[in-house]
Amino acid sequence: MNAPTHSMIPQADPGAGYRAQKAEIDAAVARALDSGWYILGKEGTAFEQEFAAWLGLSHAVGCANGTDALALILRGLGIGPGMTVATVSHTAVATVAAVEMVGATPLLLDIDPDTYTMDADELVSVLDEPPPGLPPIKAVIPVHLYGQACDLGPMLVATQEAGIPVIEDCAQAHGATLDGKRLGTLGTAAAFSLYPTKNLGALGDGGVLATNDAELAERIAAIRQYGWRDRYISAMVGVNSRLDEVQAAILRVKLTALDAGNAKRQAIAAAYDAALAGTSIEAPIRRAGAGHVFHQYVLRCDDRAAVQAHLKAQGIGTGIHYPVPVHLQGAYKDRTPLGPAGCAETAKAAGEVLSVPMYPELTDGQVERICEALRGL
Ligand SMILES: *Cc1c(COP(=O)(O)O)cnc(C)c1O
Repeated sequence: MNAPTHSMIPQADPGAGYRAQKAEIDAAVARALDSGWYILGKEGTAFEQEFAAWLGLSHAVGCANGTDALALILRGLGIGPGMTVATVSHTAVATVAAVEMVGATPLLLDIDPDTYTMDADELVSVLDEPPPGLPPIKAVIPVHLYGQACDLGPMLVATQEAGIPVIEDCAQAHGATLDGKRLGTLGTAAAFSLYPTKNLGALGDGGVLATNDAELAERIAAIRQYGWRDRYISAMVGVNSRLDEVQAAILRVKLTALDAGNAKRQAIAAAYDAALAGTSIEAPIRRAGAGHVFHQYVLRCDDRAAVQAHLKAQGIGTGIHYPVPVHLQGAYKDRTPLGPAGCAETAKAAGEVLSVPMYPELTDGQVERICEALRGL
């Protein structure tokens, strides 16, 4: 075998997405710059319409990032101090930060270890019997982690009975489905991050939220800009969280490549699955009925350091999503309420998960190199 003279394959490569559509993106940026209008204009409105149409909902509202998309939905629904929002600890810290941004209390539930998503049974149990000493649970934020759906069916039944909204955190799940329906269309509203590495990524920060509730969308659109309905006059208390025209123009181009990009991710995942067959490592478990879009392809390793070293020696970058559960991070430790399961599966997963390179621009040669390394596990 030849010595590995090739360069490192990074775990994520947002620049590759730009290069793949460079001419179109450069033209879109020039169009936005030439327009002389840089915040909340034609590009932003067009992106909102195109994104809503792609998703299959009536309304989308652009904003500054995915964290704000979650917080804006919470504000729009009137969630704030004196209320609890149930979510998970095995997620980007942003999910929990958004709950605290609006003054509500996060309640962190455990995950189903097969899919790394919220344990639906635990949610049902805390809705039935809320943990003592907590403000009432007024919303739930399930996270469709790594590109795969939560066990949304029982969650929707339980929240409907409780009369509380479900806010889908779709930051890693653009285009994913459950029983043939797009994630983000099943709850009350959905938040999407447009961070550069996400399945739909800007070339800077961005976020978008979507809902079929016209009145909610109108309220949130006002809240994102100081609570203005009329310029300079705040009808309600708001914030500043806008999507700029340059990012919106870029996102309009990127949106046209999203479905093909997800299909490519699925093909790469199938190649990795085949490479792992017969090794000591299991391919990621798929939920029945879930159309997984592989924001991340996550291995579960008893000896993660050894697997990481094996891949690094073959020039393959890896990442850990996420190394420390939110409830064990300094900012949240010892003060954030947990569900009855105590996030035991969450803590275990944090020590074992490992993400390998996953993006549509991986070349066939790179995928083959990664498969060759996976076969050696
Ligand atoms: C990326 C991400 C967010 C936050 O998005 P930003 O755009 O970085 O604010 C929220 N939730 C999850 C699950 C994410 O992966």
